[in-house]
Amino acid sequence: MATPADVAAFRATQTDVVTLALAELADWWEQLLALLTGDVPVAEIEAFTADLVAVYGDTAALNAVDWYDELRDQAAVRGRYRARMAEPSPRGQAAAVARWAVGPLFGAQPDPDKALEHLSGGVQRMVLQPARETIADSVDQDPADARWARVPTGSTTCAFCRLLASRGAVYHSEETAGGLASSYHGTCDCVATPIWPGEQEPYDVDRYFEEYSAARAKAGGDPNAILAQMRKDLGIR
Ligand SMILES: [Zn+2]
Repeated sequence: MATPADVAAFRATQTDVVTLALAELADWWEQLLALLTGDVPVAEIEAFTADLVAVYGDTAALNAVDWYDELRDQAAVRGRYRARMAEPSPRGQAAAVARWAVGPLFGAQPDPDKALEHLSGGVQRMVLQPARETIADSVDQDPADARWARVPTGSTTCAFCRLLASRGAVYHSEETAGGLASSYHGTCDCVATPIWPGEQEPYDVDRYFEEYSAARAKAGGDPNAILAQMRKDLGIR
């Protein structure tokens, strides 16, 4: 069973992968700006972003495969199954994120720092995407009725993630979560964690459910109103 320490260790490993990707991006960005004379080479930025998230995304996905198999061995559930590594974020997705991110370079007052900030958030999300998909897809295909939970880590967790965390380990396919469970914002450090029957979630699900229930009691049933209420009551994003 994944313990809070297991989740923290996995998160640290994945943070290291993201840190390396962002350092490489920042170096490349600096050189690009230093040599920039004419038009912004958008196609070059798109291609670099796609290559970068493919390389580091593979590393992140490989870590996720190993983690899944290790936790499954510990769970000692019936049947043989090995986690399947998800594909890196598609090149088209990476290109679209890059095009959006470089928008601040084209304003009346170009803002390269803002553009890099946008791009870094996108790179972080896309590097971790195949790792999160690896967990979600493997849970779906695992014959042992696995589920996954969105486990909050770090000092702050946004309302959206807290709402998903408040359900505990219920996610096993796109349908269960209405597709929303697969959305992560750029700097999200939540960890999709596999859980097998009879195991406990490695975090205080009740605490998040109480927060959610309190907000729902005030705001009514509309999910957006509940999220707004949580942001107001808890002073979070
Ligand atoms: Zn999160």
